[in-house]
Amino acid sequence: MNELRHQGIGMTSQRTRDRLIERLREKGINNNAILDVMRSTPRHIFVDEAMATRAYEDTALPIGLGQTISQPYIVARMTEALLEAGPLEKVMEIGTGSGYQTAILSRLVKRVYSVERIEALQQQARLRFQELGLRNIRLKYSDGNWGWEDYAPYDGIIVTAAPSQVPKPLFDQLKIGGRLVIPVGAQQGEQQLLVVTRTEEGFDSQHLDLVSFVPLLGGRG
Ligand code: SAH
Repeated sequence: MNELRHQGIGMTSQRTRDRLIERLREKGINNNAILDVMRSTPRHIFVDEAMATRAYEDTALPIGLGQTISQPYIVARMTEALLEAGPLEKVMEIGTGSGYQTAILSRLVKRVYSVERIEALQQQARLRFQELGLRNIRLKYSDGNWGWEDYAPYDGIIVTAAPSQVPKPLFDQLKIGGRLVIPVGAQQGEQQLLVVTRTEEGFDSQHLDLVSFVPLLGGRG
């Protein structure tokens, strides 16, 4: 039964998924490891059943509670930016949401530590990871503005909601040589996607794209 659900039919079939991967390639994603993982990870199980037929369109979709599953192109682009300098061991994610980005990362790095402030979303994501047999993910129900100190420092940090400024704990919890990928800006649709690298001397920051993320909120939901 699960096996069938993962394979999908019709609008969630392998052909539909392959088309999405072709689109990502056309848009400039050329990291084959990432494309392969996205091809073989069923996105339709990360959205409500009513949205399943749209799961392989290159768009963000609502996941309830005012939140969205990120657009596949943005997931690919952020993952590419994170992994650009080579393979990573420990990665922290802020904003588990549906868990889709988490699942993609978990198949490309050794361990993922993901923080979410809405407990109901976290619980659904946890079930999806179990269903997919992903065992290298740890989840924390907390305000990601504080990061997750227990496992710091991280080789990589990815943030999938936008603060108006980078929260200081995220800088502190980044390893020297590590990379932080984060959308920054107060206005939805006018946020800068930044790649911040920690050096011996400080932090180097590079702008990647203009993006549109839900805001990084304070406290627990
Ligand atoms: N990567 C997710 C994106 C979900 S949208 C996906 O593709 O499904 C962003 C998520 O960030 C939401 O689930 C929201 O609840 C969460 N979020 C917002 N502010 C947060 C905070 N301060 N700490 C942790 N999670 C936060």
